[in-house]
Amino acid sequence: MLLAFYKSHIITFIPTTPIVEQWRAMESTSTLMNKWGFMRNSEQKTESETTIDGVLTLLMSTLNISDSRPIIHMARGEPSAFASFSKTQIAADAIAQAVRSAKFNGYSPTGGVLSGRRAVAEYLSQDLPDDLSPDDVFLTMGCKQAAQTILTVLAGSKSNILFPKPGFPYYEVFAQSCHLETRHFDLLPDKDWEIDLDSVVAVADENTVAMVIINPGNPCGSVFTRQHLKKVAETARKLGILVIADEVYDHLAFGKKPFVPMGVFGSITPVITLGSLSKRWAIPGWRLGWLVTHDPNGILKEHGIIECIKGYFHVYSNLPTFIQGALPDILGKEGCHSQTVNTIREAANSCYRGIKDVPGVTCPNKPEGSIFTMVKLDLSVFVDIEDDLDFCLKLAKEESVLILPGISVGLKNWLRITFAMDQSSLEDGIKRLQDFCRRHSQKA
Ligand SMILES: *Cc1c(COP(=O)(O)O)cnc(C)c1O
Repeated sequence: MLLAFYKSHIITFIPTTPIVEQWRAMESTSTLMNKWGFMRNSEQKTESETTIDGVLTLLMSTLNISDSRPIIHMARGEPSAFASFSKTQIAADAIAQAVRSAKFNGYSPTGGVLSGRRAVAEYLSQDLPDDLSPDDVFLTMGCKQAAQTILTVLAGSKSNILFPKPGFPYYEVFAQSCHLETRHFDLLPDKDWEIDLDSVVAVADENTVAMVIINPGNPCGSVFTRQHLKKVAETARKLGILVIADEVYDHLAFGKKPFVPMGVFGSITPVITLGSLSKRWAIPGWRLGWLVTHDPNGILKEHGIIECIKGYFHVYSNLPTFIQGALPDILGKEGCHSQTVNTIREAANSCYRGIKDVPGVTCPNKPEGSIFTMVKLDLSVFVDIEDDLDFCLKLAKEESVLILPGISVGLKNWLRITFAMDQSSLEDGIKRLQDFCRRHSQKA
């Protein structure tokens, strides 16, 4: 029954042509991607509206260079920039050992070095009802390449994909570049940023191939409960679509709810998990991530999706081998982690407390995961602020504080704030935010 259902839906976007044809199709996608950077038509948003980098460039350009205070970066989450978050010694030792062993000097096999794939399978299986096999794991250039891979594989002439709003703008940009139509479902601020499942059903149609969830959440700092994730899986099954779970912040959950991986529900609907070392180990520059398939009922395999993923990696994946060789050592050691989580929890709490005293700004939910929170602007409080972008531009200019306007993650007149920084910078940043809001508010 389920298979028949998936056949009628998913089969429509699986190329039934031989694998060589699939590669060709993918190569033409990449040619289009190259062109895309140069040819934007008027309907496309400009880069400053769609990418975090674009907005940041704009904010940086308005900074007042005669302000002698340090710039406070609360826009981009970069935990590795702060000494107190940097726990890379174990990972560094593992890399040195992998290089010295001289076992990882050759080209990487497609999908990654077996010992590395096995290490990821074992690491993720700790939280799953059934053990993953190394064959379920593909090593990628960070979580971003894992996302690119699955979006490219799913892109078909009529297919569409569902993203959360607010969300992670990289997905939008990449889907555009491979001509995958995007639609959005809502996250609900008054329900701990849970997914509005009615809105998922409302936007899906017979050409919908998948929905993307990000848990723990960027930009909202939310963590989904087990019950909610089960409902997500059941909704996806009803619609005959896959769930793509971006779990790049796996285990960065510091509130009451534990992190539950979406793969737990792979028997309800096929799940593709995306992850990396970037956030939990605070080494984003090493570019080591993974794409993992949870397919206990063999649906992805039956419909050729696994073959398509392999085909993609034949063309695109050529990861450095020694970083993969270090994976068993890195993933096997958990010791460093609880301290990082404690540091992030303290930062999140202090950010949440500080924001309570800022006029015109409210944080509906105390952050419970990832390194971000979303706060809402009440524009009626201010005398001369037009919208979220105007707020962030003036804040950068007057206070040398960088905060991301909500518009760049899909929610106008909100702000995304990261608290991943040392305590004194965080306090300084919140203090400047308070000063700014008081100065611009009606009562001032
Ligand atoms: C940072 C981030 C990524 C990118 O991870 P990399 O491993 O650096 O490629 C993907 N998704 C989300 C939600 C992120 O915040």
